[in-house]
Amino acid sequence: MLTLTFLGVGSAFAKRNFHSNALIEAWQTSPEKQPEPDDTLLIDFGGTGPLGINGLKDKPGFEYLAIGNIVNYNKIKRVFVTHQHADHIGGLEEMAFNNVFVHGSGSDKAFKPQIISSMNILVNLWDTSLKGGMSPLPGRYALLQDYFFILALRSTAQGYEPFQMLKRYDFKIFPTDHIRIERKYDWPSYGLYITDTESGETAFYSGDTRFDYEVYEPMMTKANLNFHDTQLHDDSAPVHTPLSDLRTLPPEVKKKTVLYHYGDSWTDPEFSFVPDEFAGFATPHKRYVLFE
Ligand SMILES: [Zn+2]
Ligand SMILES: [Zn+2]
Repeated sequence: MLTLTFLGVGSAFAKRNFHSNALIEAWQTSPEKQPEPDDTLLIDFGGTGPLGINGLKDKPGFEYLAIGNIVNYNKIKRVFVTHQHADHIGGLEEMAFNNVFVHGSGSDKAFKPQIISSMNILVNLWDTSLKGGMSPLPGRYALLQDYFFILALRSTAQGYEPFQMLKRYDFKIFPTDHIRIERKYDWPSYGLYITDTESGETAFYSGDTRFDYEVYEPMMTKANLNFHDTQLHDDSAPVHTPLSDLRTLPPEVKKKTVLYHYGDSWTDPEFSFVPDEFAGFATPHKRYVLFE
């Protein structure tokens, strides 16, 4: 079984919800039959990610994420980074320092999760985001590989090479149209298309993206479940997907599409149509089953 649980479902500016980061759990059996999954993967870990996971560890079924009354970061075996905005990477320093200094015995014996993304994201992630706080250690300068095992996904003629969980679930990344500096795709940002290689079933996770259904249509039509970025209000130059654009999707696609990365006004009456028209606004700390 493969499950997805949002630590938070909010936009970069949300205060009622935490940042849109998700925990993927891979199970040989199911959460009912085993107390913890066989493999774990975070999709992003933003500035409020530590608060999101701190709340999750107290929820039934997620006790394995706690050690005493704090988060046991050693239980997070892998992190996939969609892009470099702080709502997606701002918690990584805390996670890494925790693995080294709280639940590790110094940088030589630290627990090291795997960090996964494209080469350009991983290089920039260190050089332009994490290095300032994470390079200085007592007596030396550290590198990204002091904190993480690095998996840089290789780009091929058929797109990026997938990575796997439990040798059964394939995770394939695709570029998303998030920030255009000069043109489409020129600032690296990715979504995920997940396949259960036993059943052939799939799930779609958009990452941060402008409306680009033309490109996503084959994936979103086939998938059992879609998770799509949305912004609630229209905007003359959006960097996310306005809800009004998502309303133009075919009804059968909307019905299996869960909306996430939304702003704080989602409970306003004007958005009350969402649970009827879509699979609803994403619920934080709810375990969604992607594949049985
Ligand atoms: Zn974001
Ligand atoms: Zn973003």
